[in-house]
Amino acid sequence: MRTTPFTTEHDALRASIRRFVEDELAPHAREWEEDGWIADWVWPRMGELGLLGLSVPEEYGGQGGDYWSTVVLAEELTRCGSGSLPMAIGVQTDMATPPILQFGTEQQKQDYLVPAMQGTKIASIGISEPDAGSDVRAIRTRARPDGDGWVLNGSKTYITNGVRADFVTMVVRTADADPGDPWGGISLFLIETDLPGFEVAAKLDKVGMRASDTALLHLEDVPVPGDALLGTVHEGFKQIMWQLQGERLIGAIGGVAGAWRTWESALAYTREREAFGRPISGFQVTRHTLVDLATEIEAAQALVYEACDAWNRGEYDVERVAMCKLVAAQLAFKVADTSMQLHGGYGYSREFDVERNWRDSRLARIGGGADEVQREIISKLMGL
Ligand SMILES: Cc1cc2nc3c(=O)[nH]c(=O)nc-3n(C[C@H](O)[C@H](O)[C@H](O)COP(=O)(O)OP(=O)(O)OC[C@H]3O[C@@H](n4cnc5c(N)ncnc54)[C@H](O)[C@@H]3O)c2cc1C
Repeated sequence: MRTTPFTTEHDALRASIRRFVEDELAPHAREWEEDGWIADWVWPRMGELGLLGLSVPEEYGGQGGDYWSTVVLAEELTRCGSGSLPMAIGVQTDMATPPILQFGTEQQKQDYLVPAMQGTKIASIGISEPDAGSDVRAIRTRARPDGDGWVLNGSKTYITNGVRADFVTMVVRTADADPGDPWGGISLFLIETDLPGFEVAAKLDKVGMRASDTALLHLEDVPVPGDALLGTVHEGFKQIMWQLQGERLIGAIGGVAGAWRTWESALAYTREREAFGRPISGFQVTRHTLVDLATEIEAAQALVYEACDAWNRGEYDVERVAMCKLVAAQLAFKVADTSMQLHGGYGYSREFDVERNWRDSRLARIGGGADEVQREIISKLMGL
């Protein structure tokens, strides 16, 4: 018999999330795509249902579950018909807030983590800048000490949830780059977005993930209190590298689950659509295409679940996580592209979700560390 990491509790959780996604989220997916905006009520509603902190301890507003509960949520959210929604929620739950739980003070947990789990504060993660994406050490946003606090100047770009965020978990340079300590001089901060000098300079227009708001942020002489520092001063590079493991893993889980959803709808379409007097699923080439994809998805899922199992035990292997991110990102887009091909002209039409899925799934090969960055990590760790 096939083993599964999911218990009957996880199965019940999955069933209730599926109902919520089908009843409350999926009916709005198209409208949010047209509006370029996910409705604001989604965050507090998911907070009320306890879905924003499934693996977070109860004392900080979470449900105290294990990592497999988070996996269930990430998988089920792919059923909502929009790539933007799982991404926006993933930023809240698995990218911007885990560093608060991991490195934050008790006060920071109460002030930021608890409301983020309730959905009353929206969180963003601010790493990328106009002149520094893959190369995190090249960031220029700078904090200079000022009395008990700091003054920040700089900009961050492509920040998911950035137009609506209440705070940004931000990577900031706090000392000049030092050749003797190449990883030092960077720190994490929790930056409130209503501080003077903080500006959402633009809501960026994008090929896909159109329902998700993506911001260019400017900071000009933003006064930040001393207790906005998250974790240890100058140790932010190591802290954000830890954060990126969780970000990449949740992205990989969503990528594999999304690939399955796409594969299922492609199969259904090929059984309905007829050409030359038979369903196109009747052509051997179609069946073999679907079989090859299903085999690749199964293999990717096994790799990702192995990494999830380690994460659930509080362990992680950077090389494995990078492999998960790389394979899932590529596969999600490959399946979406093949699905478009199997749908023929209808795949290219705005009438079907196929084109939206194709546009949305392309991002994973760029965001959160591009394919090439994952390959660099893997090759270094393999000693190539
Ligand atoms: C829709 C969207 C949402 C995003 N959300 C967020 C967010 O919420 N927070 C955030 O901080 N960032 C976010 N990003 C930014 C994203 O993480 C970066 O775009 C990504 O890390 C790549 O950085 P870059 O765009 O500067 O590309 P660059 O770093 O300029 O890379 C350009 C190309 O060069 C390649 N390259 C770079 N270095 C190497 C190398 N050493 N070897 C080989 N090839 C290399 C890259 O792989 C890529 O193909 C988002 C981006 C998008 C598009």
